Amino acid sequence: MIRPPVDIQIAGATLPAHTTNTLIIGSGAAALNAALQLLAHGQRDIMLVTQRWGAGASNEAGSDKQTYYKLALAHGTLDSPRLMAEDLFQGGSMHGDIALCEAQHSAQAFYHLVGRGVPFPHDRYGAYVGYRTDHDPRGRATSAGPLTSHLMCECLGQAVRDAGVAIFDLHQVVALLTREAGGEKHVCGAVALDQRRLDSGQGGFVAFNAVNVILATGGPGGMYRASVYPESQVGSTGLALAIGAVAHNLTESQFGLASIKFRWNLSGSYQQVVPRYLSTDAAGGDVREFLNDAFPDLRTLAGAIFRKGYEWPFDSAKVQDRGSSLIDVLVYQETVRRGRRAFLDFTRNPTDPAGREPFAPERLDDEARVYLQRSGALGATPIERLRQMNEPAYELYRAHGIDLASDLLEIAVCAQHNNGGLVGNEWWESNIRHLFPIGEVNGTHGVRRPGGAALNAGQVGGLRAALFTARRYAEPPPSVDDYARLATPQIAACIEFAGQATGQASAGGLRPEQAIDEIQQRMSSCAAIVREASAVTAATEAAWHLYDRVGRELACAAPQALPAAFCALDMCLTHAVYLEALGEYLEQGGQSRGSYLVLDPRGEPLGTKLDEEWRCRLAQPADFVSQKILEVHVTPDRQVQKRWVDIRPIPDVDGWFETVWNDYRHDRIVR
Ligand SMILES: Cc1cc2nc3c(=O)[nH]c(=O)nc-3n(C[C@H](O)[C@H](O)[C@H](O)COP(=O)(O)OP(=O)(O)OC[C@H]3O[C@@H](n4cnc5c(N)ncnc54)[C@H](O)[C@@H]3O)c2cc1C
Repeated sequence: MIRPPVDIQIAGATLPAHTTNTLIIGSGAAALNAALQLLAHGQRDIMLVTQRWGAGASNEAGSDKQTYYKLALAHGTLDSPRLMAEDLFQGGSMHGDIALCEAQHSAQAFYHLVGRGVPFPHDRYGAYVGYRTDHDPRGRATSAGPLTSHLMCECLGQAVRDAGVAIFDLHQVVALLTREAGGEKHVCGAVALDQRRLDSGQGGFVAFNAVNVILATGGPGGMYRASVYPESQVGSTGLALAIGAVAHNLTESQFGLASIKFRWNLSGSYQQVVPRYLSTDAAGGDVREFLNDAFPDLRTLAGAIFRKGYEWPFDSAKVQDRGSSLIDVLVYQETVRRGRRAFLDFTRNPTDPAGREPFAPERLDDEARVYLQRSGALGATPIERLRQMNEPAYELYRAHGIDLASDLLEIAVCAQHNNGGLVGNEWWESNIRHLFPIGEVNGTHGVRRPGGAALNAGQVGGLRAALFTARRYAEPPPSVDDYARLATPQIAACIEFAGQATGQASAGGLRPEQAIDEIQQRMSSCAAIVREASAVTAATEAAWHLYDRVGRELACAAPQALPAAFCALDMCLTHAVYLEALGEYLEQGGQSRGSYLVLDPRGEPLGTKLDEEWRCRLAQPADFVSQKILEVHVTPDRQVQKRWVDIRPIPDVDGWFETVWNDYRHDRIVR
């Protein structure tokens, strides 16, 4: 059902106003699935608005074997939703009811994807066999190859198009609109910039009048300089923070080694063939095999590099005793602290830190040696082994202009995923009523999650939000007149910000790229894998200072820069709130956990040959920060409220068929 737009006049501009029951923002795997789930529940009054069809992490990111985590479904593997929920919950700082929903709906979400044509492999008996991923005791992982999430988008996207859903491509949402009802805040629509009409003289603004908003804008990848999110995935969490939506676990992100010229995770085969790590000064001189400073001999060094292949995300618990994550620390030290550049070299083997013996596969530890032998990858150099083990991994870089047989591969420890994000209840509804954050923008996971659980969570979130809105929030939207009366001041604020930014073009104010550059620099230097209280405090102050400047001084050379201006505003608020959460965690005595280290002079040294500052302690289960979840939100007068809430346990559910059936027939389930 598509209603024709109605023009509304606000602050001297004429905007088309589109009316719908449910507005979906984004076109990643989470958004597309939500649209199909709404249709399946009979809700056809929907619109999808997206910055760019084909953009985002699901569409444009991948990895060696991109993983989808689901209930184990093949042959004799014993599994149950309860067991899966327990494994999700054990990751720490995750609410039990959410873990149970993600586990309960896992098979349903997975088979929906299979039904839509995603080529997950099965055997001749129809078993979707699995393998073990990180933090997964039961082999629940599956994969459709390096581009699993892209294939999901292709299949879901085709179905969305076939169904005739109204799609507003090249529309960047710049604000969510709210109204008050019954003492609560409700979302009631959004404002977007139509990127094809920016120089129309009206700024290209478009208004949406909606009963529900499903926010599927992905993770805040644009906040980091060192990032393996695709360039197109900037994130828009600030849209929701600006209207007072509560976020939690913002301290918990995943970081890992990736190439930066072409953004790609360096996991799996890229490490298992044991490449040489080296660094240079900024100009490319002073070549050093910097890992050799911290590893005593070749066997220990090569073992750690090999294990990085399947212990890819940086893990603070795998640094001590020359664990594989010590490599991330050394790369971080080299690139961020020392301002040098780090590279993988596939043309030569690592040299022995002890200077005793040349590299040879038979001198590797048992695990690495047997793996290389069984993979038929005993070539003399890393590139030979890579091509023997996984030719497509070599070809992938060649397709992006990097020949690993001759080129050095520049690397950094990059932001890859945010486990935290906006809070939703068990129907994925935010504290802002009728707003449903799903996918990565919704932070269902805490400290750790099994690899692949992000994609499952995104599918389940859409399924739950669609069921709830179709059953409980299916009413028609208000008239455009009523909507315009409520929304006018909020839309006018966007128009004024745009007018002010374009009006300052000649005054030499702050350009959006400058603001974004400052944010990225700050986040990658003090909010990534290494965190220190004093640095975070200073960064938080600087972040709010920048936010004030962005509001007052942002200058766009032309209307075409307006999307970047709104993006800078969103990102600036987001990074300030993330830093507030980091500061609060440290203030409560939070120690190293998940994918970050908290430097602590009273802690254990991380390595015998590392600088004295590298001392840490791991957070313990009994610590205050491990027993609670940190929630934050911004009040209308810009105070950041912080609240530590109890972690809800996994519900003990009776599951008696007659009772559930009775409740179901009397519509007492969805509430
Ligand atoms: C390199 C890499 C490897 C990964 N590997 C795995 C893996 O193996 N397994 C796993 O489970 N997860 C993995 N992840 C994480 C996973 O890919 C993401 O969490 C997931 O794809 C996010 O899906 P999404 O639909 O929530 O968001 P995205 O796919 O990021 O989509 C966000 C959408 O919102 C749009 N958007 C954003 N802001 C606006 C706005 N203001 N207005 C309009 N539209 C907007 C974007 O254009 C995009 O269409 C990986 C991530 C990366 C970066």
